[in-house]
Amino acid sequence: MRPILRAEGLSKAFGRLLAVSGVNLEVAAGSIHAIIGPNGAGKSTLFDLLSGAKRPDKGRVYFLDKEITHIAVEERIRLGLSRTFQVPQVFTNLTVRENLIIALEAAHSLSSYPWPRKTRFLEEEASALLERLGLEEQASRLVGELAHGDQRLVEIGLALCLRPKLLLLDEPTAGMSDAETWRTVQTLKSLHREEGLTLLFIEHDMAVVFGIADRVTVLHLGEVLAEGTPDEIAKDEKVQAAYLGEEVMAG
Ligand code: ADP
Ligand code: MG
Repeated sequence: MRPILRAEGLSKAFGRLLAVSGVNLEVAAGSIHAIIGPNGAGKSTLFDLLSGAKRPDKGRVYFLDKEITHIAVEERIRLGLSRTFQVPQVFTNLTVRENLIIALEAAHSLSSYPWPRKTRFLEEEASALLERLGLEEQASRLVGELAHGDQRLVEIGLALCLRPKLLLLDEPTAGMSDAETWRTVQTLKSLHREEGLTLLFIEHDMAVVFGIADRVTVLHLGEVLAEGTPDEIAKDEKVQAAYLGEEVMAG
């Protein structure tokens, strides 16, 4: 399978700390690929390099065979690469529907549309997204009043407004209850299945990784420690040693 995203020798230092060190990564088009690793392994920094929030000191990034190492976040989004953050970036004092409408309007160039057509388009797109996210009942509630799991689904919805081909998710289930986690996993699975969306996600919960990932890359001290199927990774002694003292392999 041809990679949608490829990183070669990516490195990023903060002062003398090498947060990401010589990372090679290939994400197959149409796959669900997990990045795991202990706290401080460099996972979020790697995402910053892939999404364009930070520039690498060394190495290259390719998206759909085009080199994107030095292009801006907005241009990456235009090509089809979007991300969500570890802490949701949403308007908490607006409703779910309003958040989606703002994001949709920003994502599509609608300035030349006549007003009635524009509002109809936005309403329809927002309704479709609410359904895909299973948030129809929350549509008119303020995002700030939603349960944490629903807020994170809204944030995924905002990223979907950009019509990505590849979505990067930084710990999509962080802080969620078991029920919220399960629902998020189901939503991500159906987005993958029904829209052919490729997912690259950072995850702490091994039950989630085993539940949805086809490929797993393990980062440790900024380097790729192992890469394989979830079963291969679970059996890997280097991986188990890196996680010593953490409970994450328990799931
Ligand atoms: P992870 O997401 O795997 O927990 P991070 O990528 O957030 O790891 O961090 C990797 C390492 O880089 C950590 O030691 C962290 O303290 C350090 N780090 C991350 N961001 C910065 C920054 N902006 N300035 C200095 N050090 C940072
Ligand atoms: Mg992180």
